[in-house]
Amino acid sequence: MNTQEILNRFETVARDPAGQKDKYLAAGKKVVLMAPVYCPEEIVHAMGLVPMGAWGGDMELRDAKQYFPAFICSIVQSIVELGMRGAYEGASAIVIPSLCDSLKVLGQNWKYAVPSIPFIPMTWPQNRKPDYALDFTLAGLRRVIRDLEAATGATFDESKLAASIRVYNEHNAAMRDLVPALAAHPEITAAQRSAVFKSAWFMLKEEHTALVRELLSGLAAASPAAAKCPVTVTGILADAPGLTALLDEYGFQIVADDVAAESRQYRTDTPEDGEPLTRLARKFQAMDCCSVLYDPDKKRVEHIVALAKNSGSRAVIMAQTKFCDPEEFDYPLIRRACEDAGLPLIQIEVDRQMVNYEQARTMLETLREAL
Ligand code: SF4
Repeated sequence: MNTQEILNRFETVARDPAGQKDKYLAAGKKVVLMAPVYCPEEIVHAMGLVPMGAWGGDMELRDAKQYFPAFICSIVQSIVELGMRGAYEGASAIVIPSLCDSLKVLGQNWKYAVPSIPFIPMTWPQNRKPDYALDFTLAGLRRVIRDLEAATGATFDESKLAASIRVYNEHNAAMRDLVPALAAHPEITAAQRSAVFKSAWFMLKEEHTALVRELLSGLAAASPAAAKCPVTVTGILADAPGLTALLDEYGFQIVADDVAAESRQYRTDTPEDGEPLTRLARKFQAMDCCSVLYDPDKKRVEHIVALAKNSGSRAVIMAQTKFCDPEEFDYPLIRRACEDAGLPLIQIEVDRQMVNYEQARTMLETLREAL
């Protein structure tokens, strides 16, 4: 495939997760849904199941409103809405982590709103660095394994987990290689970049790695187009078509990101020494610089500034998911750090129900004129 055909393939997958789910089901595989932000996908993969991201979708919320107050993020609401409308039918279970208050509520509501798909909780410890947190994390992972075995009939074999960890570490490496490669090619649109990341949630990681590596080879051989205005994007999600279209319209290029559904997923590899399940728990202990992970030093703030500086970004764009407390708490600190570093920052509110992007347009237009 040439580069354009590979990008089209990513876009097709990103646009049609239900089609991907049906394809895997038709091939005799069982699908397990993975809610935001971090799930132990490697375990699901090792059991021969297909882990598939469930981050909701851009839609008008209707039925889910009976389970949630209005002031809760639309990601969790749209996950339940899609579940109630049958979009996830055929999935054997959903794993929902406990990393923010909204996700805790999501798990409990899911049991009643979508009883056909069993809810499996993953309870990560927020205070994850001390040694005693390792035992707590392992207990959480073992609970997921037990529930997956009950829900799917598949069995867990720790020796297979080692192979799956390798698959995931290889995918992490490919995704990390992707960021500078895309940054070197301004002709890749924000929508195309988003599709490469989004499609990773709906493909087996070994399939996605192979396609990303093919894209990297194609990009290495291609001549880059004229430069655009480089920016760093941070937030939980940045995949709204209305937002990516505006970034392209005003000549911005995302050259680095701290987006939870994108690069935050791929920063931390599972360590290579020790028992596979313990290694997976240690990976969670090693994760950092994320709004949903306890971080008294707020290392994420400096991480964003370093990311922007090192990538040559001229500004930082915070895609603020509406009603996302963890991100809102970080915003004033990010603003101050960017100011101190001389980096312009704009905060654009995004929401799964958003249809009007005029406020975002005004902010991006103003930023573009100022740079
Ligand atoms: S967007 Fe924020 S509030 Fe919603 S699930 Fe993610 S971290 Fe939690």
